[in-house]
Amino acid sequence: MNLKEIGEFGFIGRFAHRFDNLIQEGDKGIGDDCAMLSVSEDEYHLVSTDLLIEDIHFLKNKISPEELGHKALAVNLSDIAAMGGKPLYSFLSIGIPQTTDVDYLDSFMEGYHRLSNKYNVPLMGGDTTSSQEKLTINVAVIGHALKKETHTRSMAQVGDVVCVTGALGDSAAGLQVLLSDMELTQNHKNLVNLHHLPEPRINEGQWLAQQKGVNAMMDISDGIASDLKHILKASNLSAVIDLNKIPLSKLLQETAKSQNWDALSLATSGGEDYELLLTINEADFIQISQDFEKHFSKPLYPIGKTTPTNQTINWIKDGKEVILQASGFNHFSKNE
Ligand code: ADP
Ligand code: MG
Repeated sequence: MNLKEIGEFGFIGRFAHRFDNLIQEGDKGIGDDCAMLSVSEDEYHLVSTDLLIEDIHFLKNKISPEELGHKALAVNLSDIAAMGGKPLYSFLSIGIPQTTDVDYLDSFMEGYHRLSNKYNVPLMGGDTTSSQEKLTINVAVIGHALKKETHTRSMAQVGDVVCVTGALGDSAAGLQVLLSDMELTQNHKNLVNLHHLPEPRINEGQWLAQQKGVNAMMDISDGIASDLKHILKASNLSAVIDLNKIPLSKLLQETAKSQNWDALSLATSGGEDYELLLTINEADFIQISQDFEKHFSKPLYPIGKTTPTNQTINWIKDGKEVILQASGFNHFSKNE
């Protein structure tokens, strides 16, 4: 059996439980956007780490070094946002081919520093090694959250409204532009920018985490077709998602039309939007969505509802049940 047959999550599932007996009561390990380490009766430290490898996660001749520095930190901050936490510190480990230009590395650190500054997160350590050929970047971020404001994937309840914090599919469309080698219009460049410069939803995550009625929360890194399944599995629920309600930017709609791309499939199965995906108690939804819009001057988008058991997503379009072909990004290709 090779890795492709069991997939990324199949691999993790083979060893995760073996560490359960080593985990202290009150701490939570593998399975959410961050590990939760109990530091006092009321508080967690949150830890998230993500690896970016040249030619797997980025194409060195397509992304600028500043953008890469931004993105390496942004995807980790996004996992802290997903738990409703505040990021505190980052650590950067990097494997660099010896022939790499120092200007390139300075620019990488410029992008990393700019985002660190924005969210007040100092770089506190890391490791630097040489690499044979490919640039390899690992970032770890430590954050803080009050226990009563931490939102895991397992907290969804039956009848919750499933919401997202912004338009989906732009990043996947940006990647499609990059891979197609087409001549770039301004719209294409804007999509590529969104793919290279994701904004971690730190402020939204912290605000949402404080609202009574917000239940499960995670960030969208692999596409909702895959990411929502994690919430459904962890909470033992299903969901009905209305494809007509998936927020699509004008930019994506226009580009998809002109290129003959399926915008909805990019929005549901393409990854790296780094918006938040959350479930809200139905009775609290209207108030929370009004307050969210007042606070952030943008809407919170309801896209469906959770239903009992089964752990499946039922997709609806124009009032009819439909089957979605692709189902989200997964390393080693097994869709889960
Ligand atoms: P995210 O996309 O939010 O970063 P992933 O889907 O990458 O999360 O990972 C799912 C869970 O599995 C997380 O809790 C992560 O910490 C854990 N995980 C992933 N790879 C490993 C590994 N090699 N060893 C231990 N835990 C892992
Ligand atoms: Mg995540």
